Amino acid sequence: PHTAGYRGRFAPTPSGPLHFGSLVAALGSYLDARAVGGKWFLRIEDIDPPRCPPGAADTILRQLEAFGLHWDGSVSYQSRHEAAYAVSLLRLEHLGLAYPCSCSRKQWRQYAIYPGWCRDGVRESGKPVAWRLRSDLGLRPVEWHDRLFGTQSFDPATLGDVVLKRKDGLWAYQLAVVVDDAEQHITHVVRGLDLLDNTPWQRQLQEALGFAEPRYLHLPLIVSTEGQKLSKQNLTPALPEEGDAVRSLLFQALQVLDQAPPMTLAGASVESQLEWAISHWSVSRLSATPSRPWKHSE
Ligand code: GLU
Repeated sequence: PHTAGYRGRFAPTPSGPLHFGSLVAALGSYLDARAVGGKWFLRIEDIDPPRCPPGAADTILRQLEAFGLHWDGSVSYQSRHEAAYAVSLLRLEHLGLAYPCSCSRKQWRQYAIYPGWCRDGVRESGKPVAWRLRSDLGLRPVEWHDRLFGTQSFDPATLGDVVLKRKDGLWAYQLAVVVDDAEQHITHVVRGLDLLDNTPWQRQLQEALGFAEPRYLHLPLIVSTEGQKLSKQNLTPALPEEGDAVRSLLFQALQVLDQAPPMTLAGASVESQLEWAISHWSVSRLSATPSRPWKHSE
């Protein structure tokens, strides 16, 4: 099968090195693109400097290279795209779809979502403002079809007015990711299930800005055998940048992606494993279980 014009991406936040869970997301999106002869881009989502230690982005590039996950074109860095985010925010403002908001979380803490007090004018002038998307104008449910998890439908009343730019001046992930996916003409988004509940805001923003809807495939989340999300906090090791463990981890990633790699592939080079995986990639083999336990072993 050849999907003309397929453009995929991996978009890590460089808050630290990649671990096994991020390898699975990277590998899934890479294979989905390469299996149809598509392009695969790398975007470093470094818009939140306090969360991104220096050097983490470079480590990520070396880790991806060690696993043979070579991207097309040059690496894109969100920290260099602020002008594009500003243009989109201005467009939303002109459309009457974005508004400044001075409210603090404390003021609306008894509500599940922000109640929209500043929609028709900032409540307290002279205070720093965040920018929010108006979600009360479209009353249709936000819907899309996930290639693994099927039809998704969210009531806009439960989504609230998502933040586009924070009070501290930093751009919010939701706006940045939607603008970059559109500017890079991304046709297919493949990422972890932890991001599925962000998708309705991204769909709202795509509609508001008149951007095309990419196809979505969310992958089961890899968790520790205790059922926790893999993270630095629970001591999930960083992926290696070289050495024998690379082959073994790549093989394990193919296994948790349900691709059933033959055992003869277990010790094979990264190139041979990827070659096999690209020619055998099958989304229909993936089972829609929300999480997969995985235990680090070498
Ligand atoms: N930067 C986000 C993360 O690392 C992922 C963005 C995306 O794939 O949409 O969690």
